[in-house]
Amino acid sequence: MVAALSSREDRTRVRRLPEKQVTDRAALDAVLDAARVAHVAVVDEVGRPYVVPVAHARDGDAVLFHGSTGSRLFRGLAAGAPTCLTVTLLDGLVVARSTFESSMHYRSAMVLGVATRVPDDEKPRALEVLTEHLMPGRWADARHPNAKELAKTMVLSLPLDEWSVKVSDGPPDDDPADLDRPVWAGVVPMRVSWGDPVEAPDLRGDHPVPGYVRRWTGG
Ligand SMILES: Cc1cc2nc3c(=O)[nH]c(=O)nc-3n(C[C@H](O)[C@H](O)[C@H](O)COP(=O)(O)OP(=O)(O)OC[C@H]3O[C@@H](n4cnc5c(N)ncnc54)[C@H](O)[C@@H]3O)c2cc1C
Repeated sequence: MVAALSSREDRTRVRRLPEKQVTDRAALDAVLDAARVAHVAVVDEVGRPYVVPVAHARDGDAVLFHGSTGSRLFRGLAAGAPTCLTVTLLDGLVVARSTFESSMHYRSAMVLGVATRVPDDEKPRALEVLTEHLMPGRWADARHPNAKELAKTMVLSLPLDEWSVKVSDGPPDDDPADLDRPVWAGVVPMRVSWGDPVEAPDLRGDHPVPGYVRRWTGG
């Protein structure tokens, strides 16, 4: 059994490598805004934990994610189950002389709390925020959800009240005794980029790739 951390400060204090903790709210926003996937934890009625990958978007002082109204895990969250949402951005590999000191460059965020269900009348706007975060520019072009689709969709909002950010960067931090090893050491940055858009096989008519898609892909 893991010991419970009772205060907010205790729950969000990074213990391992605490110098990597960043407490600026702007850093939290930057991590949430740069990622398109979050992982949301939920524990079921018999205490089994699940971690669900979801699309997310920050909406001011909350993070939104959506799922099926039929999902038992989403229903559990909507009923008030405490959760932990994490976002991880991998920025590189730190290739040290020892495997022990080899690590990663990353930016990660954890948000703790209880999510609430976005009311029906606010759902369309919340879905617009999600769509525009995932596919900037697309909301204006795509068909918006109809009443049946809205009824099948649950949008949850988790407040950005209790959170932490950890950023790992810098060169390898090898043990001095390893510095004379005859091997290369350094950092290999990692970049994620979009590929060339591939047209839907059932595309009807002559529709060029939209300008906003070109902007994502730099094309
Ligand atoms: C890409 C990646 C790979 C990693 N690989 C490993 C690994 O292989 N082994 C390993 O031990 N650790 C790894 N970490 C670090 C790991 O995420 C935790 O930070 C660490 O294991 C737990 O630290 P702790 O004991 O201080 O946290 P805990 O005591 O478990 O947590 C206390 C509080 O610190 C905050 N916190 C802890 N970790 C993070 C985080 N990553 N981001 C934001 N807030 C955080 C949370 O608010 C949490 O409630 C990795 C992190 C990333 C992003």
